[in-house]
Amino acid sequence: MVETTDTIVAIATPPGRGGIGVVRVSGPGVKNVMAGLVTNTLKPRHAHLCKFREKDASVIDEGIAIFFNAPSSYTGEDMLELYAHGSRIVLNQIVNRVLELGARLAKPGEFTERAFHNNKLDLVQAEAVADLVDAVSDHAARSAVRSLEGNFSQSIDELLEKLVSLRVLVEGSLDFPDEDIDFSTSGNIGSKLTACLIDLQGLFERAKQGAILTEGVTAVIAGRPNVGKSTFLNRLAGREAAIVTDEPGTTRDLIEQDILVDNIPVHIVDTAGLRTTTNKAEMEGISRTLAAAENADILIILMEYGRGPGAEELGLLEATGDSKRTTIIYNKIDLAGKQPEINKTTTNGQAEIFLSAKTGAGLELFVQHLKEILGMQDASEDVFMARNRHLDALERTRLSLEKTLRLLRAHAAAELLAEELRIAQQSLGEITGDFVPDDLLGEIFSRFCIGK
Ligand code: GDP
Repeated sequence: MVETTDTIVAIATPPGRGGIGVVRVSGPGVKNVMAGLVTNTLKPRHAHLCKFREKDASVIDEGIAIFFNAPSSYTGEDMLELYAHGSRIVLNQIVNRVLELGARLAKPGEFTERAFHNNKLDLVQAEAVADLVDAVSDHAARSAVRSLEGNFSQSIDELLEKLVSLRVLVEGSLDFPDEDIDFSTSGNIGSKLTACLIDLQGLFERAKQGAILTEGVTAVIAGRPNVGKSTFLNRLAGREAAIVTDEPGTTRDLIEQDILVDNIPVHIVDTAGLRTTTNKAEMEGISRTLAAAENADILIILMEYGRGPGAEELGLLEATGDSKRTTIIYNKIDLAGKQPEINKTTTNGQAEIFLSAKTGAGLELFVQHLKEILGMQDASEDVFMARNRHLDALERTRLSLEKTLRLLRAHAAAELLAEELRIAQQSLGEITGDFVPDDLLGEIFSRFCIGK
């Protein structure tokens, strides 16, 4: 549990100059801090214009102070928010004065961690706070807000309730150890289990899209020098991200960059794999690309239209097992006067897209295809922020429920079903924070910024 005898302080606004800077204080010592720092008596939840003072009563700054009395605050503890002029010097002076009055510096995410421990928000909502602060696109921000408002948590809680009532049903039959689960109850359990699995699937789909918006995807791009990789990436990013030249080999070694493709954060890894002529180096190039592609969500192989694949491309195409993740792009169609086109009916299942990175013709075919393979719908209104941690927990819940269903069909003992349902409930409960180990909590909150 959080040490609530401590009073914490932090600057909540980002470094640099600004019109206003905010200092937050939370904990049992807030009233003491108020007495020493601001001379006015602060009415809870009212804004007061105050002078912030040093120990010798000299004025550090003049600004607004708001006192939130426990439990009616963000953290659930007594809190003080000070709105001063946005100068680092002034804000540091205020923080130092608060430290002098008995507080200590807050760790990253510590305000939100206290809010979580005081049941002001659940773990999904706490994570949504961090994701909202870090959002890189409108969509990501919107889905984080939906999670913060509790949409995701509510869906989880509804499903948890259903699981609990299932457990009651199954554990009820444990009270009569000599009897098997009778047929009518068993049918009932079976249909309830199936209904839970359907709900879970829907939840997973929505969460998966949220996880993509939050955590992004990784794409590996491979192609020989001069086929137009940099031009393609720049087009995709809508800016001059990579350098484009006529000289082969501009893109050296492993180049990584983050771009936003239609609101999806895409981490691009250019392996510089296919740019060598000797046989040995060719193999080396392929294996490097494959190694990078192994952990990637998508592999893009770029070629020039009209100049079929070389040995390396063929090697790569053969070696990429999951063909759905691989997209072959034939670039520079403008040189041949060809129209953009997408072909998804290749014999090995890899989509082929014909486009021109230079003119942009056909680029939308790629973007659409990318969204399709990621399972992103166009209308993402009901997507909520999620992380891979949540997907993993949902997946484990599914496996447990499926196992329960199999046990039921095999007329297994009620104890076994009950145990599996307990595991399912625990996995699902990890998402909102009902069952979370302390080290996971530490890891989650350490990713926050200071002052949040
Ligand atoms: P990279 O080495 O694969 O990164 O290739 P670049 O993006 O640097 O492109 C090499 C050259 O090809 C540059 O002169 C680009 O302007 C040109 N280029 C790239 N894409 C196209 C295209 O679609 N059509 C035409 N005509 N030229 C292109």
